[in-house]
Amino acid sequence: MTAAKKKAPIARTPAPPRQRHDRADDYLGWLAKAVTPHHAVAVCADVLERAGFQPQLLAGNFEPRPGDRRYVVHPDGKSLIALVIGERSPVDTGFALIGAHTDSPDLRLRLNPVASSAGALQLTTQLHGGLIRRSWLDRPLGLAGVAYEVVRDRHGAPTFHPVTGVPVLLRRLLRIDEPIAIIPDLAIHLDRDKNDKGGINPQNQLNAVLAGGDLEQPEVLRLLSTRAGLDLDRVDGFDLHLVPVQKPMRAGIDGSLIVGGRHDDLAMVYAGLSALLESVEDDPNPVRTRVAAFFDAEETGSLTSSGAASNFLRDVLVRITRRHPATDSAADAEQAFAHTVCLSADMAHAQHPAHPELHDKQHAPLINRGVVLKANTNDRYATTGETGALFTALCEAAGAPIQDFVMRQDLACGSTIGPITSASLAARTVDIGCPMWAMHSSAETMGAQDLDSMVDVMRTFFAGRKA
Ligand SMILES: [Zn+2]
Repeated sequence: MTAAKKKAPIARTPAPPRQRHDRADDYLGWLAKAVTPHHAVAVCADVLERAGFQPQLLAGNFEPRPGDRRYVVHPDGKSLIALVIGERSPVDTGFALIGAHTDSPDLRLRLNPVASSAGALQLTTQLHGGLIRRSWLDRPLGLAGVAYEVVRDRHGAPTFHPVTGVPVLLRRLLRIDEPIAIIPDLAIHLDRDKNDKGGINPQNQLNAVLAGGDLEQPEVLRLLSTRAGLDLDRVDGFDLHLVPVQKPMRAGIDGSLIVGGRHDDLAMVYAGLSALLESVEDDPNPVRTRVAAFFDAEETGSLTSSGAASNFLRDVLVRITRRHPATDSAADAEQAFAHTVCLSADMAHAQHPAHPELHDKQHAPLINRGVVLKANTNDRYATTGETGALFTALCEAAGAPIQDFVMRQDLACGSTIGPITSASLAARTVDIGCPMWAMHSSAETMGAQDLDSMVDVMRTFFAGRKA
């Protein structure tokens, strides 16, 4: 094991591989269950409850007590905030905050999705985020998400909540793991240019075939209902995603690679969640309140009711601060943000063996060589000289190797939740991640050791000392 050298970033050199923990197998099992943002949140809630965390309703009263373990699920079921309440008021300590996102680029069903073309029954799709289209072709696909059913009275009419006046719905998580559909590619003989050009039109070339032959729509619904375990004829609304049925797995001659969909950004959700749980084992009664916030909709710009650009996180943190028993009645809750530090964790581009020229050679993270500090002076990342130094110190304390990423200046840089959270809380933020190949493919590749390094750094961050 080699720790990060205590050097200025201008002198940073790649660290050799190391092996410390190995959380990859646990991550693979977790990832296989987290097939949509709805499922990711449900799996997080399940893991948290088993570790003694209590659900906190957003609509309920917040009465935080030091040592409390709470989690808040946004009413849309796609974002979650977990907290370990500190002994001191957040006004004095700020929050130790880690952010990541629950959504990944994928294919989701259109309203009224069953259609037919050339004798094949299909589920028509729409894109979420900037997915690599070709990575969805010729892969057996399942279906997962949520279905909503209007609760009806005995005459079949919708019922309404007696206080809010809103129609009452039943929400059901749904998951079909069997390969019920496929998006077939076109034969090379029918498109001789496809290896050179190969554009894929999302309107009609990414719809998933359910069946050939003479199956009719009612029969399709009956078969889908049987697989899903609920009557789809009764469904009044849904958020349904196609999901590759191939399970995430270890790969490489030494098993050091992890291949699967949704590493971006569920690997960082897993890392934040693991660090929070491990930090409770380290110290169940922290001085400072620890927060792990997992947001939906990063891939589409975060501007939803539960995305990083919403008030979800800010509202929860303000309410925790106001109601904390150690908060002075004369204090303003917003004072807490002045001390807050946020690690915004999202995946990073590893240098690609077939395209090494696409990275600046001084800023080319390698798989299994450490966590990545991301910086961009056009503020696509929230990292500053100050927060970069804070993160470097955390890596040093955690014994975790660190690498730098700055996009080539002749290529456009992506962004993430860091700048949004940082702006909304006015809190110091650093953008970090683990290196990966094929970001936004339906099968992405990352390194097992980098995942461990990231959990170690986050755990050190929550501990507020060497963990
Ligand atoms: Zn991401």
